Amino acid sequence: MTTSPQFDMRGSCLCGAIAVQITRPPGDMLMCHCSQCRKTAGAPFHCVFPVEADGFKLHDEEHLLREFRSSRDKIRTFCGRCGSPIYSLRDNANSFRVRAGLFEHLDSVDWGGHIFVRDAVGWYHEHDELPRYDALEPGRDSAKSKTLLPDDY
Ligand SMILES: [Zn+2]
Ligand SMILES: [Zn+2]
Repeated sequence: MTTSPQFDMRGSCLCGAIAVQITRPPGDMLMCHCSQCRKTAGAPFHCVFPVEADGFKLHDEEHLLREFRSSRDKIRTFCGRCGSPIYSLRDNANSFRVRAGLFEHLDSVDWGGHIFVRDAVGWYHEHDELPRYDALEPGRDSAKSKTLLPDDY
């Protein structure tokens, strides 16, 4: 596969200091249920997609990217200011596993499947039948709660 000059997907961490740019079509989206992904995401699983190194650009002018060696041969990175997970990378590997939640829009991403389901937590099930709210759940008024988040959260 050759690098496509038109391909350009951009995402960023929560505070916006770290931006990632994908310049070639990534591999299939995976939902990883391993305990490491679960804990770093603070969620039952993590959506990640692989992209070859020559199609991945990191913009980190404030040098906030931090690394955590979660396995002997693997690092996980995150923003040192806001904590957003950014990507994981195995030593000697040539592809980054990028955290899909960084992106508002994803083009050309195919859904591959669930991995490490043997490690999946028992308390999570897909609840597509539950009600969906545009913002906060009923009874939670953001204006009355003590929060540092902006009002529209
Ligand atoms: Zn950040
Ligand atoms: Zn994982």
